[in-house]
Amino acid sequence: MLTDLHVHLRSDDLGATAERHFTTDNVERYTEVASERGIDVLGVSEHVYRFREALEVWRHPFWVENAVDDLGDYCGFVRAETDLRLGIEADFVPGREDRIANLLEGGDWDYVLGSVHFLGDAAVDVGGEWDVWRSEPDPDKVWSRYFATLGEAARSGLFDVLSHPDLVKMWGPERPSPGRDPRFHYELAMDGIVESDVAVEVSTAGLRKAAREIYPSPAFLSMCLEAGRPVALSSDAHTPNELGYRYEEAVELLGSLGVREIAVFEHRERRLVPLGWES
Ligand SMILES: [Zn+2]
Ligand SMILES: [Zn+2]
Repeated sequence: MLTDLHVHLRSDDLGATAERHFTTDNVERYTEVASERGIDVLGVSEHVYRFREALEVWRHPFWVENAVDDLGDYCGFVRAETDLRLGIEADFVPGREDRIANLLEGGDWDYVLGSVHFLGDAAVDVGGEWDVWRSEPDPDKVWSRYFATLGEAARSGLFDVLSHPDLVKMWGPERPSPGRDPRFHYELAMDGIVESDVAVEVSTAGLRKAAREIYPSPAFLSMCLEAGRPVALSSDAHTPNELGYRYEEAVELLGSLGVREIAVFEHRERRLVPLGWES
């Protein structure tokens, strides 16, 4: 089986409104492409910060600008009008664990993706005003902080899946590379990951970005597999055409590392299904 659980029904543009995208017509565009590409389990995971309720967790100016939709309407739409699995991509905000838990408690999620996009007030995946590389030019500091925060996210127990787990590499050659062996930085996440019950996302989104690599790197993925963590396979699609993006490469990578099963979720219960295209 193949899954795509980290999927957005719209782009990250502020102009991509809920009214235009949380519709059965739009969902049909996604389900058609998913079935053409052999994706058996399709779920959606909108960004938590696009919902007003997220402002109870954090009032970062980027969130304030984005938080215009109603979380209950999103959940109600997915449950009542689609066959999609219901997920959410929730940011890990250190120190706000109780507030994140409160926010998530209200939802009937099939799964919760946990993402580290921000280090303090600065983001690892957006350019411009909030770009982390503006305030911290030392790549080893950025990478260390990112992986330490990822480990905390795992340890928090708030999430079913750690999304794009080495997102800090997103800019590829457009930002400085760490001087240290990346495994030094990966190790900073491992205690939290070892002690958690979280699945690790393998995401082909990195292939679409300047990094030109699957998230996470084979070395980091191997460390997570050695720790006994299961894999969740996704594309982080923001359009129907991005569903299952270059999955051949992800399936090959997973096969080369001996992964034969991937995770699926229902009502936050995880089970493993065989990995691969149905023959
Ligand atoms: Zn993300
Ligand atoms: Zn995403």
